[in-house]
Amino acid sequence: MTTAIFSERQDQVYRKGDQPFQMSCDKDSLAGAVSQRACVFCGSRVVLYPIADALHLVHGPIGCAAYTWDIRGALSSGPALHRLSFSTDLQEKDVIFGGETKLYQALIELINRHQPNAAFVYSTCIVGIIGDDLEAVCKRVAEEKGIPVIPVQSEGFKGNKRAGYNAACKAMFRLIGTGDVSNVSPLSVNILGDFNLAGEIWIIREYFERMGLEIVANITGDGRVDDVRRAHGAGLNVVQCSGSTMDLAKMMKEKYGTPFMRVSYFGVEDMAESLYNVARHFAGKDSEIMDRTADLVKGELQTLLPALEKYRRALSGKKAAIYVGGAFKAFSLVKAFRLLEMDVALVGSQTGTEEDYRELHEITDEGTIIVDDSNPLELSAFLQEKDVDIFVGGVKERPIAYKLGVGFCDHNHERKEALEGFVGMLNFAKEVYSTVMSPVWRFVPRKKQRNVLKSDRGRSFRKKTLPEPLPKNSYDSFSLSRRQPLSPMSGRRDGSPFGRLSDMLVAENNCNNREPRP
Ligand code: SF4
Repeated sequence: MTTAIFSERQDQVYRKGDQPFQMSCDKDSLAGAVSQRACVFCGSRVVLYPIADALHLVHGPIGCAAYTWDIRGALSSGPALHRLSFSTDLQEKDVIFGGETKLYQALIELINRHQPNAAFVYSTCIVGIIGDDLEAVCKRVAEEKGIPVIPVQSEGFKGNKRAGYNAACKAMFRLIGTGDVSNVSPLSVNILGDFNLAGEIWIIREYFERMGLEIVANITGDGRVDDVRRAHGAGLNVVQCSGSTMDLAKMMKEKYGTPFMRVSYFGVEDMAESLYNVARHFAGKDSEIMDRTADLVKGELQTLLPALEKYRRALSGKKAAIYVGGAFKAFSLVKAFRLLEMDVALVGSQTGTEEDYRELHEITDEGTIIVDDSNPLELSAFLQEKDVDIFVGGVKERPIAYKLGVGFCDHNHERKEALEGFVGMLNFAKEVYSTVMSPVWRFVPRKKQRNVLKSDRGRSFRKKTLPEPLPKNSYDSFSLSRRQPLSPMSGRRDGSPFGRLSDMLVAENNCNNREPRP
């Protein structure tokens, strides 16, 4: 194993094929390892601040408030109060004498000025230390102003980003159940764990609406306070990014009996399977929903697959590395790369669970490195060892890739291109193609063959340019994978219904034989 791994972290890195699968995860980051994780407060902001008509006030020093909408651009179709970053700007005097008065005054002033439908108050490290009573201040302001004012117990030192997700779910849960649900359709869903980056939730909403479903609340993207208040009336919670919102889904199941289902909107296979699974959930109440869903998937694939083919031909055999925040995305990315006939040499996440990594172990090839809570030193060593052509990650991974002369695709909160849904798969292929095949890599050769390319630049590079599209009817024989793909949501290893396009179009029959994972 590479010397870049600290001895204390050996059990958080696994190479498939070395020995029986065993990985340690969900533990505190190692001091000195420069974890890519954010703090508890940042985790709570991820989940809550896409509620666009709420006031978000950070009770702490101004530095904590640097984590703003600019860093994570959840879009709104209406109000944009969430784009403003408010802070009580605690200073030395407040630390000595307490910051409750300042918090009260800030809340009153901001509520008067912006007239929000609710307010969230985030606790930061120093507030946890000096012991300001957020609960009491929020209660007083809520009574005076007549809106929900909810404290978020997100002191940064309390754990990692995952603990922040939990703090946000607890705060959100206080809002749910306070609205009127008398006119909510039984054929309805809440969308959890989609943050509407680059407008992705609008793509997914449209799919569900075409299936005949009412969307009660986009809880974590383009969210509205009044929608969240009546979310307990929905017939199903569909949960993407389960690490961030599964706690909320479980709380709603326990208190309101709302069932939930894990989904992923990335890649062709998971997108189609998610829609079919949701349709199957409602099939007892709506006998035509499966047909509508099949029509939807068929129509989308007939557009997508011919367009995708040329990228697959160009990218076939290239190597990819994946390091993302939540493991759900890693599953879908492994399959998306497989669809493009690319090999995944490294896959990891900041906050995956043992179950997540076990599933990654199931779907990856021999020799793949699986890693939990990695750091730049390890990631750099792995990228070089595996000699990858593209690294998929977030803002913190981008410089690692570029310094090593490796293509990069932002699949995290900074992305400006929608990567969800069927159209998102095409956007993803385009992005991967444009970075992997960029002529700039001729100037940073990192492989032996790159040296060949350098001495024979024109001829070698011409070979790698985008091939001509296939004839129009060629997608009939489009194979989704040169190997048997596996769905992490179903756990199948063989007999995938998605091996060929024709099978994808009748996938609802196969779905009928499977139980959704809770
Ligand atoms: S670790 Fe503490 S001080 Fe730093 S950003 Fe998070 S809450 Fe603020």
